[in-house]
Amino acid sequence: MAKKQFKAESKKLLDLMINSIYTHKEIFMRELISNASDALDKLYYQSLQSGDTGIKRSDFVIDIKADKDARTLTISDNGIGMTAAELEANLGTIAKSGSMAFKEEQQKEADKDEESKSKNVTDIIGQFGVGFYSAFMVADEVTVTSKAYGSDEANAWISKGADGYNVSSTEKTSNGTDIVLHIKEDVEGENYDKFLEEYTIRSLIKKYSDYIRYPIQMMVTKS
Ligand code: ADP
Ligand code: MG
Repeated sequence: MAKKQFKAESKKLLDLMINSIYTHKEIFMRELISNASDALDKLYYQSLQSGDTGIKRSDFVIDIKADKDARTLTISDNGIGMTAAELEANLGTIAKSGSMAFKEEQQKEADKDEESKSKNVTDIIGQFGVGFYSAFMVADEVTVTSKAYGSDEANAWISKGADGYNVSSTEKTSNGTDIVLHIKEDVEGENYDKFLEEYTIRSLIKKYSDYIRYPIQMMVTKS
């Protein structure tokens, strides 16, 4: 199947993320944990509304795994999941056009002189929930495997960033979403290896899970 292109606005934000010199790249953890938590909330509320008694809130969990050999960091939830159409709609487009317009305005200002560029990008990222695309600040490839609650089909959304994404059918045993980040290689002055280290991951989880009401489990595969 042909590779699909991101919508223009998404592509702009994506470029901003990929080329970000932002020092707090670690906020991707905040964004992905909060998305996992939202997915659990959504499933819980759906079960209340539909009177589905098969859902137990105590079963909800966010699971984080690092694999140093594979250079992957995986954030999983057993929440509502996404269908193929939802993967397209939610990860191929940016819905928050309001904040996007603001970002563009800031960027225009920033582009006027090189020096203020990094400062403004920092402000923008700090002020807004930048969402899913922040994963591309630390990953050179992102795979989202998801199975919507109540569906028999699972799908994988995969992207290396700017050049688009693919959605294809895959296998997954239970509902929910696995976000697999293939962590960038270290380059001069930029350390990405730390995002595969148990110590760093644990401290990021601690830092960014203040308002998360679900257990976050952590597993490390030693190399
Ligand atoms: P926001 O969370 O502000 O809506 P994001 O960029 O963080 O924006 O996420 C975009 C959308 O992708 C979410 O609104 C949601 O529909 C979907 N999404 C992201 N992560 C998950 C997940 N783990 N489970 C289900 N849906 C998700
Ligand atoms: Mg979000």
